[in-house]
Amino acid sequence: MPDLTGKVALVTGASSGIGASVAKELARCGAAVAINYYPGNEGDAQAVVAEIESAGGRAVAVAADVTDSEQTVAMIDSAIESLGALDIVVNNAGITRDGLLVRMSDADWGAVISTNLTGVFNTTRAAAKHMMKARSGAIVNVASVIGLVGNAGQANYAAAKAGVIGLTKSVARELAGRNVRANAVAPGFIETAMTATLPEAVREASQEAIALKRFGQPEDVARAVAFLASDDAGYITGQTIAVDGGMTFV
Ligand code: NAP
Repeated sequence: MPDLTGKVALVTGASSGIGASVAKELARCGAAVAINYYPGNEGDAQAVVAEIESAGGRAVAVAADVTDSEQTVAMIDSAIESLGALDIVVNNAGITRDGLLVRMSDADWGAVISTNLTGVFNTTRAAAKHMMKARSGAIVNVASVIGLVGNAGQANYAAAKAGVIGLTKSVARELAGRNVRANAVAPGFIETAMTATLPEAVREASQEAIALKRFGQPEDVARAVAFLASDDAGYITGQTIAVDGGMTFV
């Protein structure tokens, strides 16, 4: 288990699924964690805070819609005010609005790009100012294997996640001189609310395409994120690690 004792982390979209699991894993490794949640959904975020606190950790909930740059600046400032520093940012918040290309509405295209790509930019830009000043930091972006290989019915999602991978590489190059690392994980098929509604036929076909013949759990992603966020990964930057049970080999 990586040692994150004394570190402060912020995880976006941490009130459920992979984000909640990442927040709990970072706390288990010793970090104090700011749990970002979409405004209005405080109950689930406070449940994650309570779980971390009852295990002896330290956490606070911070509201922000990551598509709104002013809210992301306020979120970062609030996390630093509450927890005293900011060493780790995990850009996890994301949505899907699937549909075939020719039928995809402007709204569905825009919502996914705003949340999954611009949201990462907004939060990273706000956090980078503090990390550059501190001359230390680790950013971990939650991309997707769909950003590596594409998917019919997910043009918006694939474009956003491929964008996140390119953004990660640029941030890694730009901030390396200030000792700030940026990496990404690319989860495959992970059991969360996002995948719960997929039709059974799609689930079966997906499972067949996975070398390990099983879906992943949020904890599988969380452990990879904790590693990349830690000093154990101190010589790794600009990389994207697929956490997909062998669904893609790229
Ligand atoms: P999830 O359970 O739906 O979690 C997504 C989280 O993001 C929710 O907490 C959601 O909050 C939050 N969120 C959405 N829009 C937001 C916004 N504008 N501002 C702040 N928070 C926002 O789905 P998940 O599967 O854990 O997904 C987490 C990440 O993993 C996403 O980036 C997703 O693309 C990626 N991923 C998932 C899979 C998979 O198989 N599950 C595979 C590859 C990549 P609310 O619930 O309050 O809206």
